[in-house]
Amino acid sequence: MRWVVCCSVLAVACERGGAEPAPVASASVAPSAVAAEVPSAPSNEDAGAGARGTGAPVGVVEAEPPPHPLAELSDAELVKLIEADPKKLGTASIGEPNRGQLWGAVQAESNELWEVVDPDRSWATPATLAGLTRAIQAVHAKFPGTPRLHLGDLSRERGGYLRPHRSHQAGIDADVSYYYVTDQKWYQKATEQNLDRPRTWALVRALTADPSVEYVFVDVTVQRMLRAQAEANGEPAPELDALFGGMQRRTEAPIRHTWGHRTHLHVRFRDPVARETARRLYPLLRARRLVR
Ligand SMILES: [Zn+2]
Repeated sequence: MRWVVCCSVLAVACERGGAEPAPVASASVAPSAVAAEVPSAPSNEDAGAGARGTGAPVGVVEAEPPPHPLAELSDAELVKLIEADPKKLGTASIGEPNRGQLWGAVQAESNELWEVVDPDRSWATPATLAGLTRAIQAVHAKFPGTPRLHLGDLSRERGGYLRPHRSHQAGIDADVSYYYVTDQKWYQKATEQNLDRPRTWALVRALTADPSVEYVFVDVTVQRMLRAQAEANGEPAPELDALFGGMQRRTEAPIRHTWGHRTHLHVRFRDPVARETARRLYPLLRARRLVR
């Protein structure tokens, strides 16, 4: 597994000095809001030539969230579980992605969808792993025979600083490889020659359509290749304009350029359940010196 070491070193070299920016305020536009801007399908399918509603992607309907799993438990009951059966409490995403911790994290293991680059850095919240799984499964469903991509850094088991990143501290950030028409190798620069545009676009499209994804960092050169693919697929320009942020530094578009993302993409998830778990558990865990 020599390449694992090499690539980790490379990752440090390439990302140092270009760390990811601070998270955007949680009020930023969700991908679902973008989907919501797409006109809904007309009730009459003969509504007229050129009506694009019928071909629009499925809008994301935000259902009432179920009650939080710990909502019915008192602090005394939580303490009992911390001591006797902590796995029952789920995962706490504590603090912020740039200054955070994890408790009760789940670990991504290599499977038919991905190869984990470094198991010590493959911990996350359940929503993060579920979101990654959904998006990659969507690629496999569309393109049978899709190879495994590489899952780079997520977070450490207990979160906290993960060199060389600023974020990746609270279990809701993931570095994921692109798909290539050449051999899948971790941390290779995407080019016109090697990028598997249909598969990579399917991946990014699935991520941006997922309500658990806040945004995806993709280098602008890769964005251009993916947009060309989307246009070749016949996807409507206004929808693509809303998805691609291009070079704009401050954008609410789900696909954003940040330096250092020509070799992989970075996904920021949202996990309100793990955040609420953290709100409930943090004082109890801290009192027992189980977190900092
Ligand atoms: Zn990252």
